[in-house]
Amino acid sequence: MIGAGAAGLMATLHAAEGPGTEVHLFESTRDGGRKILISGGGRCNVLPETLQPERYISDSSPNTLRRMLCAWPLEEQRAFFEERLGLPLALETETHKYFPRSGRARDLRDALVDAVRRSGAKLHFDTPVNGLDATDAGWTLHTAEGFFGAHAVIVATGGLSFPKTGSDGSGLGWAKTLGLEVVPPYAALTPLTTDRKSHHRLAGLSVTVRLSVGCGPSKEESCGGFLFTHRGYSGPSVLDISHRPVRDPHIDLRVNWTGRDEAWWEDLLCARARPSVGAVLRERLPSRLVRLLCEESACDAGTPTAELRRNDRRRLVSHLCDYRLPWSGHEGLARAEVTGGGIRLSEVDRRSLESKGHAGLFFCGEVLDAFGPIGGHNFAWAWSTGRSAGRGAARL
Ligand SMILES: Cc1cc2nc3c(=O)[nH]c(=O)nc-3n(C[C@H](O)[C@H](O)[C@H](O)COP(=O)(O)OP(=O)(O)OC[C@H]3O[C@@H](n4cnc5c(N)ncnc54)[C@H](O)[C@@H]3O)c2cc1C
Repeated sequence: MIGAGAAGLMATLHAAEGPGTEVHLFESTRDGGRKILISGGGRCNVLPETLQPERYISDSSPNTLRRMLCAWPLEEQRAFFEERLGLPLALETETHKYFPRSGRARDLRDALVDAVRRSGAKLHFDTPVNGLDATDAGWTLHTAEGFFGAHAVIVATGGLSFPKTGSDGSGLGWAKTLGLEVVPPYAALTPLTTDRKSHHRLAGLSVTVRLSVGCGPSKEESCGGFLFTHRGYSGPSVLDISHRPVRDPHIDLRVNWTGRDEAWWEDLLCARARPSVGAVLRERLPSRLVRLLCEESACDAGTPTAELRRNDRRRLVSHLCDYRLPWSGHEGLARAEVTGGGIRLSEVDRRSLESKGHAGLFFCGEVLDAFGPIGGHNFAWAWSTGRSAGRGAARL
């Protein structure tokens, strides 16, 4: 077993249940589960309220993805944490996210590592695996402790995001060397940047928006929090859609700042006996953003709505409902919550996650070509695929 992140810890626990199975877990950092520790702002959004396979992004078959994700029903996943690990979870109803009731990500990481220890599996921290070779008897791992033979190997090395947590893409490299098809990795759930100084000055301001990108069948929307930062934009709505600008540097991102449509704003701004344009907008949006939108649409915030000229109103309404976000880049893998791309799902058996071309080699978690939106969906993928790979390897 290579990698003691979310997927690897889960895989180890299930592999260790196999009768007579001896399991060794190699991890390059000194304690493992580092992404779990920093997840959810240190609270760890361990699961979503519902599994939503249609919201995952992959270049592989959506049907295969759905089967892999739903192989472990959400109710059973919750029961695993609460009953097997003894870690009560709490649902945050407004965000539809589950967190450990204690509010501490560390409790989850420690509970998983303790359970692995109790399972009889042997943990080798601070022990990077530097390579693996197929042999007649199975596989040989090259570790800092020397060569290590195994009948089965589970690769749960994650992607390339947040490299300081231990992810260095080694699993993707091995897969390529072995001839497996790997969708080129890219940053996903990553903040965007802008060159526009007036936007940097709004750093810290957050609003709830609807973001959209593309048109026709390729159109995607994301709704939720939008945060101005010192370098650009973040918040769930931005992170969830960021893979599109990352993969297409010329794509337009459109913001509807309130979710209201143009007809709604036209009605409101046409109404007689209304105060100034600025006052009407400030009832729905923070005043600093109102100032920015009025400036950029060349509309005087002090004008009474009744005196607003038709063309000015149209321009303002278009800035409110269909604003072209002046993004110029992104924060890349260093700040990406996940890595898009990875080993194409058709390379593995969807039930056991064993490589179709290399017997005894299994993959799970972020190393595979799939990621989900913010909200516990990426851990759900890690838990479900980790369990399948662990059970698959234990059956060998
Ligand atoms: C800041 C941040 C916040 C996040 N918050 C959430 C959240 O709240 N909810 C959610 O669902 N998802 C969240 N995620 C995403 C989630 O953390 C990942 O999807 C998940 O951790 C992926 O699990 P994994 O086990 O596949 O990979 P990883 O967690 O990356 O684990 C891979 C492990 O393999 C080890 N490793 C790598 N190469 C080797 C090697 N050659 N030899 C030995 N060991 C190796 C690494 O050290 C690491 O421990 C967040 C991610 C980040 C970065």
